[in-house]
Order: sequence, then structure tokens, then C-alpha cells
Amino acid sequence: MNEPDGRIELVRVCRMLYDRKLTVSAGGNVSVRMDDGTFLITPSGKNKGILTEKDIVRIDRDGISLDGGNPSIERFFHLALYDSNPSVNAVVHCHPLYCTVLAVRGEKVDCDLTPEGVILLGEVPMIGYHTPGSAELVEAIRKEHTHMAMTMARHGALTQGKDLTEAYNRMEELEFQASLQILTEGADRLSEAEIRKITGDTP
Ligand SMILES: [Zn+2]
Repeated sequence: MNEPDGRIELVRVCRMLYDRKLTVSAGGNVSVRMDDGTFLITPSGKNKGILTEKDIVRIDRDGISLDGGNPSIERFFHLALYDSNPSVNAVVHCHPLYCTVLAVRGEKVDCDLTPEGVILLGEVPMIGYHTPGSAELVEAIRKEHTHMAMTMARHGALTQGKDLTEAYNRMEELEFQASLQILTEGADRLSEAEIRKITGDTP
């Protein structure tokens, strides 16, 4: 990904998150890895529905702004995921309603109600509550870096992917699974045997 394309893509994904009500006002942050080892990330405190390409901030691997912009305070957990996962090139964090309802209740999202949940998301851990922007939050997320989707207690949701489209799709699916879990409360899960068939795992 080069910088001009990265800025265009980030604005597009933020607009989709906002239009799909996967986040409200300035909530959440989205980033993408550049070919030169730097990163583009959304700015601090700006509404995701009206971002423009010049609002996006370029940072180095230490989180330092390279273009004078004010990057999200959550940039350090994005950088921890890139550092831990060489094949991950995009990270999406936001506050979708149903994911956040479950996260406030202290319940994880169980993605085994439908085959898509199993295929796209797999096991989705919920990390404990830590203050936004804190080193404790960064370390809690780093510990779960192998999971492509996770929720954060009393806070929101986080997905990763090889590109922005994959990370975005996981977020959309995660919120759908959270809404299913709430709306179908108590419904049976797919059986272990069916999950093994779907994932190709042999017992
Ligand atoms: Zn947040």
C-alpha cells in the first residue's frame, strides 16, 4: 500500500463504518501498514463520517507523527498487533452497538451460531477492561494477537486482516454475530462435529 492509496482507503472504510452504524461520532480508530514500514492511522477526536484524506496521520513504528497530524491515542495497540503479526496490514477498532452491549455485560461474542461466524472469525476472546490509551490495554491486546477479532470489556471491538477490506469485513461480521447472539438468546450453537467439518479440523 502506498500513501495516497492508503489515505483514500482509510477514508472509505471509516465512511462505511459510520454509515453502517458500526461506530458513532469520533469513536474508534483504523490503521493500515505502508510498504515503507510506516503506518497511516485516523486522527484523534474527529467524526469518522466526515474524515477527509488530509485528516489521516502518517506515523512511524514508534507512533511518532511524521506529518504534523495528531494520531489516535490508541495507535500503540495497532503498532503492537503489526509488530506481532507480520501478515496483518490493517487494524479496525470501533464501538459497534451489539458488540458493546455484550462487552458492557462482560459477555464474549460466541461466533458459532452460523457457519460464517466460524469461518470468518473463529474464537473471539474478550480482553478485560483497561483505560483507553494505557500501556495495560496495549499489553492485553498483544497477548491475544493471534485472534483476528476480539472484544474489549466495557469498550468495543477490534479486528485485523491482510488488508483493510478483510479487517472491515470481519468487523461487520462480528457485529452481526453479536446481534444474533442477543436477538436469538438461548438458541443452540452449531455442534462441535459441524464446526470441525466447516473448519476442516480433524478430531
Ligand atoms: Zn475505543
